[in-house]
Amino acid sequence: MPVGTVGSVKGVPQDVLEELGVEILLGNTYHLYLRPGVGEIRQLGGLHRFMSWRRAILTDSGGFQVFSLTDLRKLSEDGVTFRSHLDGSSHFFSPESATQAQIALGADIIMAFDECTEYPAEGQRVRESMQLTLRWAERSKRYFEEHKNEVPWNDTSTLQLPIAGPIEIQNSKLETQKSPTAELRSAGQTRASASTQALFGIVQGGMDSALRKESAERTLEIGFPGYAIGGLSVGEPRHVTREIVEATVEHLPLDQPRYLMGVGTPEEIVEYANLGIDMMDCVLPTRAARHGLLFTSEGRISIKQAQYAADESPLDPNCRCKVCSRYSRAYLRHLYVANEILAQTLNTIHNLSFYLDTMRAVRHSISLGRGARFLSEVWSQAKP
Ligand SMILES: [Zn+2]
Repeated sequence: MPVGTVGSVKGVPQDVLEELGVEILLGNTYHLYLRPGVGEIRQLGGLHRFMSWRRAILTDSGGFQVFSLTDLRKLSEDGVTFRSHLDGSSHFFSPESATQAQIALGADIIMAFDECTEYPAEGQRVRESMQLTLRWAERSKRYFEEHKNEVPWNDTSTLQLPIAGPIEIQNSKLETQKSPTAELRSAGQTRASASTQALFGIVQGGMDSALRKESAERTLEIGFPGYAIGGLSVGEPRHVTREIVEATVEHLPLDQPRYLMGVGTPEEIVEYANLGIDMMDCVLPTRAARHGLLFTSEGRISIKQAQYAADESPLDPNCRCKVCSRYSRAYLRHLYVANEILAQTLNTIHNLSFYLDTMRAVRHSISLGRGARFLSEVWSQAKP
């Protein structure tokens, strides 16, 4: 899932994302809540309609940003008080208010409000944080069950408008679960009043396999249509991330989406897919692109380097994206060095294309019964 923090994948228009084959985007509740405001987006028909995006959207609960971006946080059983990174104003998120905000935004998949445990953390602290996330998961679900019919696309006024329509996602395990949105989709209809979002639970437990197991089992007892592994990629060594993913994913149901939050490099997403992860999101392809770091089938390229100044070859000879099929490395380097806005757009299009191609190759490989392992083998032979 490319990250569209404030309702925009930075530098890339929605029609290009569609051409690239993006099926689902991530939006950040924290950012949209602060600006323009979830009430404002709701009044404009919800996030799909507001940003003119007919395919799927997932919103996070806002918890991760509150814990990573804001100062002067005050955590209590009830929720967390924090100051906006924009203007210092004071706000409060709880399982109820974060779920309410996500219902107002109207994404297809929304996330339970959790506490992302910091790293490193003491054993007792990790346990207490994991238990708090479990209590918050119950509250998120209770609020969702009571209010799930309040999604903006259930307003009859917006139902009749052309862009209020449902998502177009394919290949989703959600479809096999007969979620209300999936049923609508397979029926080829527009949204009806019965459709609701899918609320996913989040497994925490720091870098402790036993706590991860307990968190997974107890989150499953609460019951969600999909499960995320949170609290990883927070500064721990790579091999620890992998160990915890392995220790957690085995406790999550095979027939429901398993979502690893906030990873990773192209090599890592292949590795995690191979471990049984179905969904991932990461700012890396888009953020790295804006800094001139490009992922290619021949390894990473820092396009600002002087060695590309007269290089007429395409960025990645094995990539069929519109950037690689049209522009040279020399031109891309020039745009970057000259600080042209187009550099960010073209670099982001290529990196997204590379990530999406990678996942398409993973899906193809899985469909052939080969797992995702072959790609790692291919890459291990590629130049660094
Ligand atoms: Zn390309």
